Amino acid sequence: MKKRDFVKYSTLLAGAMMTGSPSAVISESMKKSSRSVRKGAKLNLRFVPYTLQLKHVFTLATSSRTTTPVVLTEIEYDGVHGYGEASMPPYLGESHESVQKFLSQVNLSQFTDPFLIEDIIAYTDSIAPGNYAAKASVDIALHDLTGKLVGMPWFRLWGLDPLKTPATSFTIGIDTPDVVRQKVAEAELYRVLKVKLGAGTDKEMIETIRSVSDKPICVDVNQGWKDRNFALEMINWLNEKKIIFVEQPMPKEMTDDIAWLTRNSPLPIIADEAVQNIGDVLKVRDIYSGINIKLMKCGGMNAAVKMAHMARALGMKVMLGCMTETSCAISAAAQLSPLVEWADLDGNLLISNDCYDGVTITDGKVTLNVKPGIGISPKIKMFTD
Ligand code: MG
Repeated sequence: MKKRDFVKYSTLLAGAMMTGSPSAVISESMKKSSRSVRKGAKLNLRFVPYTLQLKHVFTLATSSRTTTPVVLTEIEYDGVHGYGEASMPPYLGESHESVQKFLSQVNLSQFTDPFLIEDIIAYTDSIAPGNYAAKASVDIALHDLTGKLVGMPWFRLWGLDPLKTPATSFTIGIDTPDVVRQKVAEAELYRVLKVKLGAGTDKEMIETIRSVSDKPICVDVNQGWKDRNFALEMINWLNEKKIIFVEQPMPKEMTDDIAWLTRNSPLPIIADEAVQNIGDVLKVRDIYSGINIKLMKCGGMNAAVKMAHMARALGMKVMLGCMTETSCAISAAAQLSPLVEWADLDGNLLISNDCYDGVTITDGKVTLNVKPGIGISPKIKMFTD
């Protein structure tokens, strides 16, 4: 693409995406992109496997673990580096091997214009079905790169107000009362607690927390309740305990039971396992009150922001969740957090070997920074030249 055409493209891109202060941003992006784009430059993808060490054994209704495999990605374009990440909790079926196999088939060098985000993502989607974490690692790196090329963070390019980020919750896994009390103490800086239920100790978990804390709680049952009458009884009990919402109370296949539960529940019922990507939002609109969007489920920032807008247009509530991830994927998700009611972006705080600095939590709220792209800096060099 000729430089003149490229400038025209980037102007159109910025104009299409912006809703606030357009003239200043377009002028800024033209200046930066015309300076940083070089004729003949190509996109180069690199990736490296990494293993996250969890601070505590993490127990859900169906599993427990002490590590999470991730693959870190980098897309280089004319000396500018964008970073991405795939996180693969075992229950979702992706692994170090599957992600590296997928990424080894991604040939980004055929693209000379990094701003053709829709085309590049359509290409990575076409390589194989599924592989959402692997696809997210390309999508996030591409967003980081293009944000850096125009010198803007993505929340700004999406026209979102950084002051409207939600409080983020701190997750407390299923554990003994002593450990639960210790985790509540660790969550001192957070305004909202997220509690995992569904392992048969639900009331004990909530009562243990309520014995030491009055903070609002959201609960995630991870499909753990199998009977709708029991589920409604539990939700009515939870409603007396200052609970905000209930996430995935029953197995996702039990759609009629969940729709009944949502109609009768005093608390919002949020879909997590039941909603993966854009196509699922319409399917769950009459079954749940809202959806939990995660970059690793839907394939990245491009799909996530579309899902958030679609759910809001359908009158559904939106929460933004995460896996155990470094500050790379967490900061990427945080870019769209002003669009959502609730955030659960604590995955980077649950690990002891985060290799990026990124968004922070201040007074319990996601705090976006002004760094371009997804707002991160590497703490250690993961990619050697
Ligand atoms: Mg969940």
